Amino acid sequence: MEEVLTNPKAGFYINRDIFGAEGDFIISPEVSQMFGEMVGVWAMCLWEQMGQPKRVNLVELGPGRGTLMADLLRGASKFKNFTESLHIHMVECSPALQKLQHQSLKCMDEENTSEGVDKRSLSTLAGTPVSWHATLEQVPFGLPTIIIAHEFYDALPVHQFQRGSRGWCEKMIDVTEDSSFRFVLSPQPTPATLYLMKRCKWAVPKEVEKLNQIEVCPKAMDLTSTLAKRIGVDRGGALIIDYGLNGVVSDSLQAIRKHKFVNILDNPGSADLSAYVDFASIKHSAEEASDDVSVHGPITQSQFLGSLGINFRVEALLQNCTDEQAEALRTGYWRLVGDGEAPFWEGPEEQVPIGMGIRYMAMAIVNKKQGIPIPFQ
Ligand code: SAH
Repeated sequence: MEEVLTNPKAGFYINRDIFGAEGDFIISPEVSQMFGEMVGVWAMCLWEQMGQPKRVNLVELGPGRGTLMADLLRGASKFKNFTESLHIHMVECSPALQKLQHQSLKCMDEENTSEGVDKRSLSTLAGTPVSWHATLEQVPFGLPTIIIAHEFYDALPVHQFQRGSRGWCEKMIDVTEDSSFRFVLSPQPTPATLYLMKRCKWAVPKEVEKLNQIEVCPKAMDLTSTLAKRIGVDRGGALIIDYGLNGVVSDSLQAIRKHKFVNILDNPGSADLSAYVDFASIKHSAEEASDDVSVHGPITQSQFLGSLGINFRVEALLQNCTDEQAEALRTGYWRLVGDGEAPFWEGPEEQVPIGMGIRYMAMAIVNKKQGIPIPFQ
């Protein structure tokens, strides 16, 4: 899954612009500017709760086209004390998407950036410095840090286990004689089995008893530990928004090409692979990694955006726009908070995805000293 998505030559994310109406999927920041604005409200409130520190790292994991961050900065640009404290760090593995993000943030490159040093630019949207990195570990330590992960966790590779006569076996991929792919079960325990054991320990027994298949995401568990340790020491918090479940995930790995579900093994690299995020395992990973953080949620995306005041924002925007913009605002609003059918869908009826309001959930991990973050009270 990791190779298919991020291989430097053939990875799905690496070379193309896969977002927006023409691309392979539609995500909230592309649906409406209000999404990034609301995430900005969340970040600003966290910054207030942190005591308005003079310098803050604002990190986004997997920023796609950079739309969320652009809307966040534009929305926050009037709050100078906040924006002047920010140093933005975009964690992105795809050079093509880094370029798009650079454009979305209307960045100007600083002079004398030498080879081998992480590129540093200035976003003219709010006058904030921006740097790019391939991993979270490369973001400098030592400053309070706000981390946003929107639709990032669902792209991290999952491992699937199947229950059989030999107990739990990992599902692996094999190459057949005619050079196509097929699923097989591993003959012996695999390294990911350690994560399966950990995940099952966190589950209530009856959650696992009824399942014949379990998905675990070691990368998500490790990333959460890294991020929780950082927040425990440097202060700040992380906001994770994604689709998923607040419990063990059984079988959710899916492939989407041009808005249609396709076979996972079909032409790897040409379709987006993603899996449900197991929010309960994120919570346990964070709590296990640091005694200095608290975990809040998950709550649904519609609760999250609603409590942050998206209703007031849509009303305000509607006061001052053309009929066409008003229509786009209303559609965007309902796609973000509603639980009806997603209107962009053109595939078969029985595979219609539901709106993003319920299936998408928000979770926060914050430094305990800062109290409970809004809107999780
Ligand atoms: N957050 C964006 C897009 C999400 S798609 C939005 O809400 O619009 C996933 C993003 O994560 C893409 O930008 C992809 O290139 C990046 N990505 C996926 N796996 C990654 C990894 N292992 N390391 C760094 N970036 C990754």
